[in-house]
Amino acid sequence: MHYREYIDKNKENIIRDVQRLVRIKSVDDTPAETMPFGKGIGKALKEALQISSELGFDTCNLDGYAAYAEAGEGEEVVGILVHLDVVPEGEGWQMEPYGAKVKDGKIYGRGTSDDKGPAVAALYALKSVVQSGIKLKRRVRVIFGTNEEIGSKCMEYYIKQCGHVDVGFTPDANFPLIHGEKPILQGEITFADCGEKRVPYLAEIAGGKAANMVADDCRAVLQMQEGQSFEEKFNAYCKKHVLKGFYQKEETKHILSLSGASSHGSRPEEGVNAISHMVDFLTALPLHYGSEFVKKYMETIGLTTDGSKLGIAATDAFGSLTFCVGTVRTKKDGFAVGIDVRYPLTLKDQARELFDAALKEKGIVYEEKAYKAGLYMPVDSKLVKTLMKCYSEETGDRKAKPFTIGGGTYARSMKNILGFGMVFPGEEEVMHKHDEYVKIDRLITASKIYAAAIVALATNEG
Ligand SMILES: [Zn+2]
Repeated sequence: MHYREYIDKNKENIIRDVQRLVRIKSVDDTPAETMPFGKGIGKALKEALQISSELGFDTCNLDGYAAYAEAGEGEEVVGILVHLDVVPEGEGWQMEPYGAKVKDGKIYGRGTSDDKGPAVAALYALKSVVQSGIKLKRRVRVIFGTNEEIGSKCMEYYIKQCGHVDVGFTPDANFPLIHGEKPILQGEITFADCGEKRVPYLAEIAGGKAANMVADDCRAVLQMQEGQSFEEKFNAYCKKHVLKGFYQKEETKHILSLSGASSHGSRPEEGVNAISHMVDFLTALPLHYGSEFVKKYMETIGLTTDGSKLGIAATDAFGSLTFCVGTVRTKKDGFAVGIDVRYPLTLKDQARELFDAALKEKGIVYEEKAYKAGLYMPVDSKLVKTLMKCYSEETGDRKAKPFTIGGGTYARSMKNILGFGMVFPGEEEVMHKHDEYVKIDRLITASKIYAAAIVALATNEG
């Protein structure tokens, strides 16, 4: 039977198996024996392997960190990366979060689109190819991860045990295809301050929630002289920059609050940074302690979001460097600023070296918290061309072009992988939101696209 026919005929089974996985609440939890990410995730992994066995695949469980279902023969491995962990359901649901109810052509529930629906679409894609009698010259593995939402330790474990796959994709992203992701650096810059704690001075500053979100709030505490106030200045600044501010006096302690607008760390230029504006305002005050921090901050960051003041601004054909200030906190002898920097993706691994060199030159104290290597495959590379062809042929969409992003997908967790569906162009993104769903007809189409990709990647000699 042709793979398309097999997938169409198995629509009800596909729905049933998505439901089997969605009904298991697989949120990260306390480790248990052979379940390093908790019982829920462990149960979901077991169920995915059960489904894989029912479909006739060989399976292997890597100590509960990851597992895979496999078909085909040969030395090389085609990998399809999916994950079974989900983010907590959160608030606001109309539907049962783990009910997996089918309504109006959709399956509802946490994980339906991220990433259990795609996992089942991939399994049936592989099955449809195997039963069609096409001979696979490479082994094809549907690899089940269990820790994508928290840090992809699952894939670190897989790579340690099995190495990187030779080629493949992850249905944990968007169609038509993501062929580049910017390198991401996250860490904390410390600005020391040797000023005297003599009034007026900056006693405290705090703001933001995470390095990868533009801070939408900032609070500064000033110690003042009796009778002194900067309230008028503050109000004028807020008015000039159209910001919501609040000035509160508790005797000689003055508390300044500022609201900005958040945006994702990959698009800091779309937000209004409350921290940077607070610091910008503080430049106008005759502070003792705190003024060194303010001066250095304005010299190296200021209100920019492109790294230009640090001398690291860069652009390539796919976009520019982004520099996001996400947090600020008070330290013993200074202030620490949490940042998220995304380099143009064609710089790949050079990004880290360039960044470190720039900081060194400016004498900036930086502690790295996370580094995610970028990925990039040119539009005319074999994998990009192959996957794009499969997408176009199965959907009839010949206009869609592969694209690049500043954010990160599961594809970064292993070499030779690109993000390939299964959110279709123009479709609502429901991942991590309440009333998450997957459209059944999209699930079927995606499964056919993945079947075509398996045929292309596992039968050619390239
Ligand atoms: Zn995901």
